[in-house]
This record gives sequence, structure tokens and C-alpha cells, in this order.
Amino acid sequence: MKDLEFPVFNTKSNSDKKFDLNDPAQRKEYFELKCGPEIKKLKDFLQTNTFVAYLMGKKSSGKGTYSKMFAEIVAPDRVAHFSIGDMIRGFDAIVKDEVQKKELVEFLQKNYRGFLPIEKIMEALEGRSTKVLLPTELILALAKREIDKLGRKAIFIDGFPRDVDQVSYSLFFRDLINYRDDPDVFILIDVPTNIIDQRVKTRVICPLCNTSRNIQLLPTKKVEHENGKFYLLCDNPECSGPRMKTKEGDEHGIEPIRERLNKDELLIKQAYTLQGIPKVLLRNSIPVNDVKNVTDDYEITPEFSYTFNASENKVEVHEKPWTVLDDEGSEVNSLMPPPVVVSMIKQLVQVLGL
Ligand SMILES: [Zn+2]
Repeated sequence: MKDLEFPVFNTKSNSDKKFDLNDPAQRKEYFELKCGPEIKKLKDFLQTNTFVAYLMGKKSSGKGTYSKMFAEIVAPDRVAHFSIGDMIRGFDAIVKDEVQKKELVEFLQKNYRGFLPIEKIMEALEGRSTKVLLPTELILALAKREIDKLGRKAIFIDGFPRDVDQVSYSLFFRDLINYRDDPDVFILIDVPTNIIDQRVKTRVICPLCNTSRNIQLLPTKKVEHENGKFYLLCDNPECSGPRMKTKEGDEHGIEPIRERLNKDELLIKQAYTLQGIPKVLLRNSIPVNDVKNVTDDYEITPEFSYTFNASENKVEVHEKPWTVLDDEGSEVNSLMPPPVVVSMIKQLVQVLGL
């Protein structure tokens, strides 16, 4: 990201062993090799303690992926991913159910302090459009209610702070949710805009089972050729396996969300300068010249391309490291999610003083 220093994290090992990082069992072995002792420390810590982590990265930077993978590897029952966006979308169903709606109104009468009358809040939640801005006091009250339901766990908060004026609220958030004595930390994620753009443009989805893949970055095992074009066929064993399709709008890449991305960048810059709260800095790209020294080759996201062999009537698949230009215009390779999570695990151990 322009103007901010996100150090390159070394995840290279001395081992010759290679892993398929898309395979959950091999991924587990991989984490054991790369950060087994740190995972153990975190597991012990989480038996009786928690933390609050604010995930901050641009839209589609992998916030959910990283925190869910962290939970999967470290302690699924002791770690929760809490998305403010999902919470707000969840109110669509709640306000349609009379019993739940009544509970919500009662909760707000007791707990909401702010400028908006409760009838107005309910109108906003019921006829919610993206244009209706829910006040921060309301979002905080609702988040507290949902987090209370999770039981006591370490939480990754995704989607808060969402605006510059919310950054300072986040400094008091753990007090608000009764986590006052637990450590809190900002996790800032740096992903070059080109990576997000390209991922959006090349992702495809199965029209039947909604499995998502990527024709350039994560193909299925079956690729079909017709009239000079290549298509992925869904290979979910539960599915009849149709052609996967680009979702409408995805062909425009980040254009429709550019404003959001600029705002996210501003937020990250602001959080970066916060004093008195520890920060974990994650980056998913490595300058091409450094790659050999700091990563194992299977940690780099591959790029796939296809040619059609007419004489054998078959599609040939080619693989090489995916190279893109970062926000400064330098060539970088992109990391698979697991090495980013290794860096997160090791930095968290440091920050928590374990
Ligand atoms: Zn399918």
C-alpha cells in the first residue's frame, strides 16, 4: 500500500516437503511444520483467555478467509469470526419474524442510547437499503447483543471500524462488550488493488450448487474447450457438474467498488498510526526478487492458463507463479492464504506476549 511499510514475513522452511495448500489435511501438516510451537501457545492461552482483533483490509482482501483459517487451525470452539455486515444483513430475516422483532424492539428500548427514535431504527432495518446509514451507537448496541450470544470466545471483528469517525470508537469497543481485561489488537491487511481486481474478474460460480472457483487461480479438475474459449466444469461430487459462470458485474472488476476501496485504504492508514494498541501487519504479496529467499514455492499462488490440443482433443493446463503489479507498480507474487495465516499466528504470539 502506498506510504505504509508492511514488512515482508519470512515463511521459508528448511524442509523439502511440499504441500497442497488447498487440501485441508495437508494444510494441517503444513501449519504444524511452519508454526507448531506457536499454535500450541495460542491453544493454551485460549483455554482460559480471549482477545479482540479488528480485521482491517480492503473489501475482498481475504479478512474472512484468514480469520476462519486461523480458527480452523488453532481452536475452532474458542475463536469466532464476527462480521458486522453479516449481522446487518441478518436483520432482514429477524424483522420479518414477529417474535424476534418484538425481542429486538425490547432490547433497543433497554439498551440503545442515541439520537434516532426506535420507530425510525425499525423502519431503517425493515426497508434497509444501502443508502440508509445506521448510526454507530446503534451498530455498537446490536454488535454487543450478538457477541453476548457467542459465549466467551476470542473474536475477530470484521467490518468495524468502517468509517473514519468509528476508528476512535474501536479503542473502547472491548469495554463495551465486557472484554475490558482482554488484549485487543488491530490486524491490518495489505493487498494490492490489482490482485483484488483480477480475482473478481476471473472468479466463476456453479449455477447449481454455488461452488466458487477461479478460472485463472483456482480451476476445477475439469476444463472444457469450445470455440477458442475455456470453461470450468463444477467438480463438486454432489453436483451434476455444469459449466461455471461469471457472476453478472464481476467482469468490471473493482470499478463498481473503487470508492469503497479508497475509503478502506484511508481507514487502514488511520489505524496504522494509532498509538497504544498493538498491530499485526499482514501482506499477501511478495516482491518477485525476494520470493526465493522468503517463501517455499508452493506458498505462491499459481496462475493457470490453457491450450487446446486438437490432435488429442484435450485441454492442456499450464501453471506458473502468478505475477501482478502492486500499488507502486512493482512486480509481486501473491501468497496463498496459509502463509499469511502463519505470519498472523507468529505475530499474535508476539503481541500477546506468549
Ligand atoms: Zn456445482
